[in-house]
Amino acid sequence: MTRAVPIAVAVLASVAMAGWLLLTPPDAPPPEQAPDPGPSAFTPRAGIVDDARIMSAAADEPGAWIAYGRTYEQHRHASLTAVDRETVADLGIAWVKPLDTIHRLQATPLVVDGVMYVTDPMSVVYALDAASGEEIWRFDPEINGQLVRFSCCGGPMNRGVAVYGGRVFIGTFDARLVAVDAASGEKLWDVNTNYAPHEFSYTISGAPLVAAGKVYIGNSSSEFGGATTAGHRGYLSAYDAATGELAWRFFTVPGNPAEPFEHPELEEAAKTWKGEWWKMGGGGTVWNSIVYDPELHTVYIGTGNGAPWPRAIRSPGGGDNLFLSSIVAVDPDTGEMKWYYQTTPGDNWDFAATQHMVLDEIELHGERRKVLMQAPKNGFFYVIDRENGELLNAFAFGALNWATHVDLETGRPVEDPAAYYEDNPQWILPGNSGAHTWHPMSWDPARRLVFIPTQELALFYALPQEFTETGVYKARFNTWNLGLERGQRHADLVAASDDPEGPPRQGFLKAFDPVTGEMRWSVRNTVPYAGGLLSTATGLVFQGDSAGVLSAYDSDTGERLWNLDAYGSIGAPPVTYEVDGEQYLAVLVGAHWSHETTGRVVALRLGGAPAFPEPPVRDRTLPKPPPLTASPEQVAEGNVHYHLYCGACHGGQARGGLIADLRRMTRETHDAFLAIVLGGAYRDRGMASFDDVLDVTAAQRVHDYVIARANADWEAQEAGTAQ
Ligand code: CA
Repeated sequence: MTRAVPIAVAVLASVAMAGWLLLTPPDAPPPEQAPDPGPSAFTPRAGIVDDARIMSAAADEPGAWIAYGRTYEQHRHASLTAVDRETVADLGIAWVKPLDTIHRLQATPLVVDGVMYVTDPMSVVYALDAASGEEIWRFDPEINGQLVRFSCCGGPMNRGVAVYGGRVFIGTFDARLVAVDAASGEKLWDVNTNYAPHEFSYTISGAPLVAAGKVYIGNSSSEFGGATTAGHRGYLSAYDAATGELAWRFFTVPGNPAEPFEHPELEEAAKTWKGEWWKMGGGGTVWNSIVYDPELHTVYIGTGNGAPWPRAIRSPGGGDNLFLSSIVAVDPDTGEMKWYYQTTPGDNWDFAATQHMVLDEIELHGERRKVLMQAPKNGFFYVIDRENGELLNAFAFGALNWATHVDLETGRPVEDPAAYYEDNPQWILPGNSGAHTWHPMSWDPARRLVFIPTQELALFYALPQEFTETGVYKARFNTWNLGLERGQRHADLVAASDDPEGPPRQGFLKAFDPVTGEMRWSVRNTVPYAGGLLSTATGLVFQGDSAGVLSAYDSDTGERLWNLDAYGSIGAPPVTYEVDGEQYLAVLVGAHWSHETTGRVVALRLGGAPAFPEPPVRDRTLPKPPPLTASPEQVAEGNVHYHLYCGACHGGQARGGLIADLRRMTRETHDAFLAIVLGGAYRDRGMASFDDVLDVTAAQRVHDYVIARANADWEAQEAGTAQ
């Protein structure tokens, strides 16, 4: 088999067209078998995927990773058998494809017909030969770098594509949905998913879902509810997969009740809100999990947290605030709601329910039930009847103090009033990072075990001083608008509390039986931030971590059987696939904090190279900064601006965060500071202009603050007293 790309592209373009016409219409029964694309002596079939093929892939195509969670059921559990508990010791590096990025990598690669489709954080799609890593094509949607400002949590990100009908679908960080020819990488259509003209945009970080002839996509950015324009409301959009035409939209929270509701469910939802919630948007964005249930012809979405976070500000007087933090079932043909289950009524903590959802049928309380399972941020694991939304089981899967348990009669969590932070600022577990967030779990149906990447990262919650003293919250436009105290005053409150350190920050990989709630085993991760999961029928669970180590654990015991130091940061979930009889594993590895590396796709196979050569160690020495010439008052002013607009990405105290450590700026960067911060000189690299919120004087004060911090830490380094 050759993989001569130029010839393949020409042939595949026509095959892709033919495959499109063979798509199953949404209402037709699935065909007995997937349509035969004809002889294909030297090329893969380039993503001629339809509903029937995805539905049968779990059984018929063990070597494909055909949809985000491998199949529609999202098990992320592989039936390939070459890599098992014995052979895993021989797993080594097959190939590496550099992605040349320092931003975080989160994508799940799809592998269909020997081609891997994968994305980088700037929403660039790569088609790679899955056996060699050789690039077949690349599609750059050229996102508007200015919108990287509206990242929830430090820079751009993307979790992957969907493949269907000879097309690849990508939700871009600047909130477009784009269809690309799977064979050639050529753009076929490109639509803006913003529901109304805004002074700022939604973003997209999640992978689209394709099923029943439509592409489904939500949005991110509910941390940016506006103050001078309509804020961020959540919604799911469904587009015709062939034409890109909008079919319907389901909003997850009601808008201004003085205007007509977009659909009848919102009229009911509005009764659960108080005050003028629509002015700041309300939140509930559908930023991650969108799942199709072929058996019940239903799309399930997980909805995000409230915006702003505290209910006292968002909906004064209470209410459940539907449909925040919920799992909602909608009809793929019409967008009408079938049922909902709200995990966290009246969300007060950024407890999104956007996490990975798994579909299966299990025996529960003596009955066979069609279930949907989710471990959302709030720390409870839910088993829900996917026919009607009935709560069947709920148990805590991590340390939590905001609620005592879930009442199975009412289906509601029982909050602990001692953990109300409105009058008593305090640490809450889990914090806004959640007991489990976007990192996918996996489900081993034979062992009846769900494996969950969990974390214990508390947050100290405090209402803003302006609100507690005046009852008025002055939301800020075009920056984080959480409704919580931040910056220096937050640090002061924590320092003055009776627990300045807070609970230990740690992470665990856990195996649970969702029927009994029994924790079968738990492994403490060496670093608190660990990645998404892959499990296998041969009894292995694979997980990477933020220190760059990829490990394989025994599914029955949690014993670590193998590991590889990839010198990077692994948050993305691994996948496995087969090409020409060879089983591969692949995972995205991001830049490393301690070594000179950038992002890449790493593929492994049995008998591959056993280790990466150690890259050069990153020089952690602070360079000598320019002298500080500003007054203490100017530095203090810069401190406030810095923590409002810069700290989310560049780290508290300017000590570096998810991206560039500003204490290490070169002389050239210092000279260009205003051109970058106000002029947008680095926009294409993801550093947007802030000229709408900072004037020249304020930007200079930020610069003063960074120089002051750099000098303080440099002097401590030179004196040998650095922390
Ligand atoms: Ca959030």
